[in-house]
Amino acid sequence: VVIKHQFEDAPKESNFEIKTGVFSLSVEPGSDDIIVKNLCISIDPYQINRMKSFSSSHHTISFAEPITPGEAIDGAVIGKVVASGNAKFQKDDLVLGVFTWAEYSLVKEGNIIKKIESSEFSLSYHLGVLGFNGLSAYAGFFELCKPLKGEKVFVSAASGAVGNLVGQYAKLLGCYVVGCAGSQKKVALLKEKLGFDDAFNYKEEKDLNSTLKRYFHDGIDIYFDNVGGEMLNAAIANMKAFGRVAICGVISEYTDDTKRASPNMLNIVYKRINIRGFLAADFLNVFEDFSAKTSDYLRTGKLKVIEDVSSGVESIPSAFVGLFNGDNIGKKIINLAEE
Ligand code: NDP
Repeated sequence: VVIKHQFEDAPKESNFEIKTGVFSLSVEPGSDDIIVKNLCISIDPYQINRMKSFSSSHHTISFAEPITPGEAIDGAVIGKVVASGNAKFQKDDLVLGVFTWAEYSLVKEGNIIKKIESSEFSLSYHLGVLGFNGLSAYAGFFELCKPLKGEKVFVSAASGAVGNLVGQYAKLLGCYVVGCAGSQKKVALLKEKLGFDDAFNYKEEKDLNSTLKRYFHDGIDIYFDNVGGEMLNAAIANMKAFGRVAICGVISEYTDDTKRASPNMLNIVYKRINIRGFLAADFLNVFEDFSAKTSDYLRTGKLKVIEDVSSGVESIPSAFVGLFNGDNIGKKIINLAEE
């Protein structure tokens, strides 16, 4: 899957193209060439910031390289080694890495993040709940926000890959948790299946500031922000003194460069609010701890996994576009082949 050209606003399926070609499945012994058959692909919002043409002119920095039109898009993928010139990887090894959005990828050792040794859980969990989405939720909530039992937590994009986990971790700690999402179906999922104390559909609310007052009479201790824009402004206006705000992502701003959040800075001063952005990759030091605790929650059924799965490379463009329309419920995964 490639982009035809860079674009500036919301992505459309017509921005993408699927190319086919002949691919040799043999490698030179002793080379660093590894051929991977891709099994499942993670679809992530940040990728749009690599596809835009305006990012450089607006001083936005991206933590990943821009995607070149016509060249295969890369991202987090799990695959199975079919041929390897590198002695560290054998045929049939399961590997997680940065591979292309394609049926097969020719990769180097440096593209592989790790081998997946244990098959205790569904493979796709290593892209979501046990991967970078899970780590974002865990590290962003526990390490940045330093939550205490009983504190009041607000999460945006709460039914999404990261958001649903933040809410569930917060409930497991004993916090009061409210989430917002873009449909009644998502709101019902949060309240009925994931144990959120309350949830609302932000698309039905006219004044987000008073909406948040309705759910947090005494203010918000922790806001986990996935969306930025007006929701961030409203959350800041409703924070308690010494509140913490983790800026995980600002998806509402990815497709509309004119909608930057502009919170009331005096509120931040007087209420001594701590706002911090982060990348999951900053927290590899807590990965072991995160992985052990989360695996345990999964084994005991304390944490629910919400995945939204499509099949085949041809489903990638609409799956990606769907992230920005709220089509996905939970972690968006593309299955390409069975293990
Ligand atoms: P999600 O699974 O949450 O999918 C995106 C969701 O965002 C959509 O389903 C939609 O849900 C919501 N959304 C889309 N457009 C808007 C909009 N204009 N306003 C409000 N909500 C919108 O994706 P992820 O969990 O993977 O990512 C969530 C956020 O976390 C993103 O901002 C992402 O970039 C960021 N992120 C950051 C990481 C880090 O290391 N800092 C790592 C991973 C993700 P709805 O129906 O509710 O509108």
